Amino acid sequence: MNTISKETRLTLAYIFIAFLFSVAVRMIWAYQFGDVEAFKFNGQFMINTNDGYYYAEGARDIFSKIHQANDLSPIDNATSILTAFFAKILPLSFETIIFYMPIFLSSLIVVPVILIAKSIDNLEMGFIAALLASIANSYYNRTMIGYYDTDMLNIVLPMFLLWSIIWAIKTNENKYLLITALDILLYRWWYAQSYSLEFSFFGLILLFTLVYERKNLYNYKLLAIMMFAMINLDLFIRFPLVLAAFFFFKEERFQKYVYPILAISVVAFFATGGFDPIWHQLKGYVFKDAVSVADTGLKLHFFSVMQTVREAGQIPFSTFADRISGHVLTFILSTLGFVYLAYRHKIMLFALPMIGLGFLASVGGLRFTIYAVPVLAFGVAFLITELSQKIPNAKLRYLSMAAFTLAILYPNIEHVNSYKVPTVFNADEVKVLDKLKTKLDREDYIISWWDYGYPLRYYSDVKTLIDGGKHGGESNFPVSFMLSNPQQISAKMARLDVEYTEKTFKLAEESKDKNLTIFTNIEQMTKDYGFKDTNDFLASLSTDIHLPEKTHDIYFYLPYRMLDIYPTVTAFSYINLMNGEKQAAPFFFISRGFSETQNAIELGSGISLSKKESSIKIGNKSVPVKRFVKTSYDTNMELQKSVQMLDYNGYLNVIYMADYKTFLVIDDKTYNSLYIQLTVLEEYDKTLFEKVIATPHAKVYKLKV
Ligand code: MN
Repeated sequence: MNTISKETRLTLAYIFIAFLFSVAVRMIWAYQFGDVEAFKFNGQFMINTNDGYYYAEGARDIFSKIHQANDLSPIDNATSILTAFFAKILPLSFETIIFYMPIFLSSLIVVPVILIAKSIDNLEMGFIAALLASIANSYYNRTMIGYYDTDMLNIVLPMFLLWSIIWAIKTNENKYLLITALDILLYRWWYAQSYSLEFSFFGLILLFTLVYERKNLYNYKLLAIMMFAMINLDLFIRFPLVLAAFFFFKEERFQKYVYPILAISVVAFFATGGFDPIWHQLKGYVFKDAVSVADTGLKLHFFSVMQTVREAGQIPFSTFADRISGHVLTFILSTLGFVYLAYRHKIMLFALPMIGLGFLASVGGLRFTIYAVPVLAFGVAFLITELSQKIPNAKLRYLSMAAFTLAILYPNIEHVNSYKVPTVFNADEVKVLDKLKTKLDREDYIISWWDYGYPLRYYSDVKTLIDGGKHGGESNFPVSFMLSNPQQISAKMARLDVEYTEKTFKLAEESKDKNLTIFTNIEQMTKDYGFKDTNDFLASLSTDIHLPEKTHDIYFYLPYRMLDIYPTVTAFSYINLMNGEKQAAPFFFISRGFSETQNAIELGSGISLSKKESSIKIGNKSVPVKRFVKTSYDTNMELQKSVQMLDYNGYLNVIYMADYKTFLVIDDKTYNSLYIQLTVLEEYDKTLFEKVIATPHAKVYKLKV
């Protein structure tokens, strides 16, 4: 019988323990929220990342084999495919699989971490680094239980790549050529933006070869096979290419062809446009465009989402350090430790691309920090093992290692304990969406703000206009316009935008090879109705215009929680599309923490409502109130309201939503908007809308035109 070496057994034991540790820490959330029914649907927890519903929709459609053209369901997506595969082979519910998948896949990070440490004969370092890397703040945040997103393998796969590159360079064994190339294929399949890391690794190996091992033929084989894995062709072409290269390189008699093959691979890489995404990215860092202006036709100016994102600004050092190592001190020790580690074991310098991408966080945003987590974890783990080496007594040595390890883990576990992320939806909201699934057809459209796009498609299996991936200024404009305009105008825009969206799908299909310019819906409408100025077209919506023929039913999903983002929603249509001028934001004030005094109700932020006079005080200014509205639910959960007209010349309206303990102070335009009228007041035009579902959490209306 083959006996497994003691080292292998120890490696497996470390991997097993670190994996269990990573899973166990991620279970803390489930333990904390075990009895919170509001977080559950069908007896299982719901996920806590909005984008997850995108992959879940694709997985559901692959699993059930039901999918229609242009429903935007990602049935070719790797995450969706893997999820559907798990759903097929595991005796677990779909909800259970998507909820628990992140914790098992992301915990695989411990495998390459320990294997990399094994390559420099320091298993203890690998074990300590694995414990830290698996739960350090930013890695935890993006791979926690229910965080169903590509992140669950986005660090695991490049760490395996790093592992195989290190072994390839160290041993020059043929099998690592194949493993490296296969890992690139897998990583690219999983995550399309993987090229930046792949290319950095490639560049580093090239540099290393030119400087230190110019005569080592093996390195050129490695570079060539990596290049074949990275060319911009379908996976089904790259895979056989990689296999062919591997069998060629293995043969002694073909060694003289290595250089020509490398040359071919490089030419193929550039010729297929493999370098294009890298070039685009580099260009993106140099020229940051702030306004999104269409470059053809009317040159409309849309509100750009990036404006709000970029305003986030610089990340303070302590946040950056906490995200990577859990504590500023650990981060500093990790950095110093990594420098020392790389000095003692030069091979570890191949990890630099991961650190580089992690440090890009200072310009590219916090989400990049996770790339530096596992590599810097090696740094502090190396310091701990080196320090312990100095202790002569074996018992004391292990005791000190354990103590230091607990010390670096502690702040991270503290973070896990306090990071109480809620699920995206609550149970009552999902009940509404679930009900819609049985009532609506797959081809029906539900209009709502983009935050609800993916979840609506997942739970109700319908079509949407905007979602977590489609929310540029040009797509958001019509929806923002509908939600913030009077019903008579919004209804027309709803019919127009849905029909034009469908028309655009067909046009895109027809013009695939012809390279036609496809205009935004709003621009095409403007032209079709004979206008040259979009503002004139929008103004014409209040007149009796001829609407396109109805091909799809349209519903509005209007959740109560959208109240909090109403001003953001309006920003996308409170803009003059012709010149980009922003209109003054609506007067919109929401108060949930109010208190009553003898003469007034203090709403906060220096705003108070006088009890005696029908006026509202904003700072020192007293403004007459036009309407005072009070809403509440009766015992049948039917909305009741009383509207008091106080001053026709008033400009502000006050709505007291008694059962929500919420005050709204809003201007006339907001008061008359579709969102406020249909959601807060259930005051709908019966010739245009039909009430489908009305709960305190969400209202759903069907469009009749
Ligand atoms: Mn569908």
